[in-house]
Amino acid sequence: MAQKDIDPELRRDLLTGGWTILAPARSRRPGGGKDGRGRGPCPFCPGNERLTPPEVWAESEGPRSKDGPGWNIRVVPNLYPALVENPGTGGKAGGRMPARGFHEVIIHSPRHDLSLERMDPESAYRLMRAYRLRYRELCGHPWVRQVLVTLNHGREAGASLEHPHTQVFALPLVPRAIREELGRWRRAAARGCPLCAAVEEARREERLILENGSFAALAPFASRQPYETWFVPLRHGEDFSRAGEAELRGMADILCRVLRGLAGLLDHPPYNLWLHSAPCDGSEYAYYHWHLELVPRLVVTAGFELASGLFINPLPPEEAARRLRGIMG
Ligand SMILES: [Zn+2]
Ligand SMILES: [Zn+2]
Ligand SMILES: [Zn+2]
Repeated sequence: MAQKDIDPELRRDLLTGGWTILAPARSRRPGGGKDGRGRGPCPFCPGNERLTPPEVWAESEGPRSKDGPGWNIRVVPNLYPALVENPGTGGKAGGRMPARGFHEVIIHSPRHDLSLERMDPESAYRLMRAYRLRYRELCGHPWVRQVLVTLNHGREAGASLEHPHTQVFALPLVPRAIREELGRWRRAAARGCPLCAAVEEARREERLILENGSFAALAPFASRQPYETWFVPLRHGEDFSRAGEAELRGMADILCRVLRGLAGLLDHPPYNLWLHSAPCDGSEYAYYHWHLELVPRLVVTAGFELASGLFINPLPPEEAARRLRGIMG
């Protein structure tokens, strides 16, 4: 197949304003087409490094050769990218543009079965540091407008490979979910940061799940799904790339503890976790507050959610927070 046929393309729906990435190559990934998942050796296990594209970064204890074993964390380009650095010269008119960007995978550890909540605090902290490192690096490209960090756990949450990993997307535009948050928060900013206020409100209304020195975990007032959790740095700041060491340690600690709580309460549910930080397009976003959102995939969303953008959640967030606090002691 000619390269231009499989290069991803961004298309904008002029009726909704939303962008879609058309990425034919994604259908070849494990579980992406019709032929099931996880056949053959795991490309993320040590010894199988040649099954991934050449690594862009790795952390190791001692000296090792590139794309050999001996690493603790390894970052590789996604084999089936939704965005590529040098896409064919597609037209920019008519609501389409080349899907120029980066799509990387951070392999959490050499261990195939070590999910985030079971990592030791030091390893989890090093993983958060790898998040920040890739985030900073990708934001540094002048045409990158937004970097998204997402962790899918479990097949129902879209993880096509079992080996724990995180994906990093660098986009040439600011996607709709962030634009909407930015718009609402900018309008609310005259009364102070709405996310700082949400932490206060969660404390008052018993929706706070956990707090450590640098982070709060809360069940949002209008949780979309059972056990939806937001992780909020207590120090207001719009930019994840400026998170300090103590914040990264606090982030690792609170993520692992809440995920352990969920694993105990719900027998290791599938979940999606993502990081929202201000666009890196050179504009001013001091009113924004970076954060992580976690949604366990317990309820199948259906036509109503697609038709309305409204979610139906059977579990009140006050009760979700109470149960999580209970199991975490
Ligand atoms: Zn593996
Ligand atoms: Zn704030
Ligand atoms: Zn958000």
